[in-house]
Amino acid sequence: MNIADVIADARKIVIKIGSNTLAKADGTINTAFMDEFAFQCADLTAKSKQLVLVSSGAQVAGMSTLNRWTRKKDIHYRQALCAIGQVELMHQWRTAFFKHGLHIGQLLFTKEDFTDSYRTLNMRNTLFTLVDEGVVPVINENDSICVEEIRIGDNDNLSALTAELWAADLLILFSDIDGVYTANPKENPNAQLIKTVTDINDLKKHISIGNTNAFGTGGMETKLQAAEKATRCGIPMILANGARPRILEKLASGDAEATLFCV
Ligand code: GLU
Repeated sequence: MNIADVIADARKIVIKIGSNTLAKADGTINTAFMDEFAFQCADLTAKSKQLVLVSSGAQVAGMSTLNRWTRKKDIHYRQALCAIGQVELMHQWRTAFFKHGLHIGQLLFTKEDFTDSYRTLNMRNTLFTLVDEGVVPVINENDSICVEEIRIGDNDNLSALTAELWAADLLILFSDIDGVYTANPKENPNAQLIKTVTDINDLKKHISIGNTNAFGTGGMETKLQAAEKATRCGIPMILANGARPRILEKLASGDAEATLFCV
């Protein structure tokens, strides 16, 4: 199985975009990336693919909007930043998708929503209806109301839960790294990209996971948790570098390297 075949075979695709991919080096939101990404999504939908986006970046967009980041450790300040940033984030996605003739719809989830059968039924129905209507759902965690007990905590796991909920054929995580390496490639020049993973437990024995990256909350650990969740449901997952130009297209044509998790 290679990545191009997996994408060709998948009709329903959940795509997660991390905060690092959405932020520029100065911490502000990267609208040029969003435009290019929306273009690639439109191209896939024209090829009869159905897409659900899980987008991080509320906090980054909040910082961009307010232009200050003064109370980093204060939960209420972070929640307020997300309330400000989520609007900005959706405004930018709406503008980007609209240029390519697509509408978007926002869904904000918490962990509790996934444990309540009545809510999951409604979440699933809304997702299916949006997609049936040709609208791209854009999901984030409802950060402004989340306290520890109801936090999913990272959008890697949220995207895997979404893929399961929607019965997706494929989950693609875009991060700031080409995939899983034998060691941290930023620190170790001998690190090798692992192209296919069929046994995540075995993988964990052979790699060093390292820390969270600059803006996101996840790091490699939550990506592996997402891969475990998705593959357990028979959904393959691709981890790829969202910063590479036209990455969705290149993955689909077999011209980009990434890691494929499958069982
Ligand atoms: N939900 C958070 C945000 O939009 C990000 C979570 C994550 O980076 O995984 O800012």
